Amino acid sequence: MHIGVLKEAVARERRVALVPDAVARLVKAGDTVTVERGAGAAACFTDDAYTAAGATISDARAAAAANIVCKVQRPTDAEVDLFPAGTVVIALAGREATAALETLAAHQVTLLALERVPRTTRAQAMDVLSSQATVAGYKAALIGASALPRFLPMLTTAAGSLIPAKVLVLGAGVAGLQAIATSRRLGGVVTGFDVRAAAAEEVLSLGAKFLAPEAVAEDASAAGGYAKELAADQQRRVLAAIDGAIAAMDLVISTAAIPGKPAPRLITTAMVERMKPGSVIVDVAAETGGNCELTRPGETVEHRGVTVIGPLNLPSTMALHASQMFARNVVTLLELVRKDGKLVLDLADDIVKAMVGE
Ligand code: NAD
Repeated sequence: MHIGVLKEAVARERRVALVPDAVARLVKAGDTVTVERGAGAAACFTDDAYTAAGATISDARAAAAANIVCKVQRPTDAEVDLFPAGTVVIALAGREATAALETLAAHQVTLLALERVPRTTRAQAMDVLSSQATVAGYKAALIGASALPRFLPMLTTAAGSLIPAKVLVLGAGVAGLQAIATSRRLGGVVTGFDVRAAAAEEVLSLGAKFLAPEAVAEDASAAGGYAKELAADQQRRVLAAIDGAIAAMDLVISTAAIPGKPAPRLITTAMVERMKPGSVIVDVAAETGGNCELTRPGETVEHRGVTVIGPLNLPSTMALHASQMFARNVVTLLELVRKDGKLVLDLADDIVKAMVGE
């Protein structure tokens, strides 16, 4: 197979789809890899490292001429123009993708959309949503800790004893569980919450408390372990539980999401106004509208002494490890579609079928 790697074209995207180690693995398996000059630079991978791994460094046109092109973000219109008909692109499709997908189809380019990898055990090693959510949860805890005007851990010093910060993590999926683990490692006293019953056990297993088991919905899980939108009375129970706990919290990290829908609103302005001055909210769901009513995606808002942070593309801020994990997912996918050294998109395979949207 001939695999191309393009430099990411959109703002704030520092990741690269394949790192040198991944290239070496593909080359060893008999693939040819062409990398656009500087593609890994923002993620700390030099052209020399790609060359040493067996890749050819070239311009975008040569990298786009491969039969499979790997990217993080979906191709821009300018990139689509570079692709010969029949190119297969592996990338995230992103939100509001309809027009972009139509452009790709018009150019006879097939997109294997990485967010459509099914949530099955076999597909787990190809699941970029999970690997990147791990990065987001970790980074959210660090951002929260550094924005707080206080320590996270309990400290006993000659200058007095300091009590640990209280941290509430809303949504205990991949990002939320990582935010819980990271906040615990930093010494915070952590409480987690999720509407899915299965998440409660995972929160407790990390040594955190679970907020309001009575607000968990037995039927909150949809296909693939994702949550679904809540009925109105259930939503009221969830909001009441958060309302009852939030005023005591120093840091709230919210990660609640429902696939294909706007983020559920879990933190109202009235709740924020009950929080202590100096408290911090890190809204990991900012990209899909935010879990907090006051979140402005990509901005930091101060409201009556409370800092509300709405970070975008957290994985890109840790581009080295995020790319390494992303690349491992992509290589596993490439190994799935490589049959006797050639690219074969077998639509009888549930993973391939889901990714091409058939
Ligand atoms: P996600 O990013 O879609 O959502 C984050 C969390 O928000 C979820 O846990 C969800 O239940 C929660 N949430 C939604 N609405 C909420 C509300 N109103 N209040 C509180 N919480 C709310 O989810 P995710 O992190 O991608 O994963 C969800 C589940 O899928 C997890 O159980 C995870 O272990 C599982 N998973 C399975 C696989 C696999 O089998 N291959 C891979 C990844 C994740």
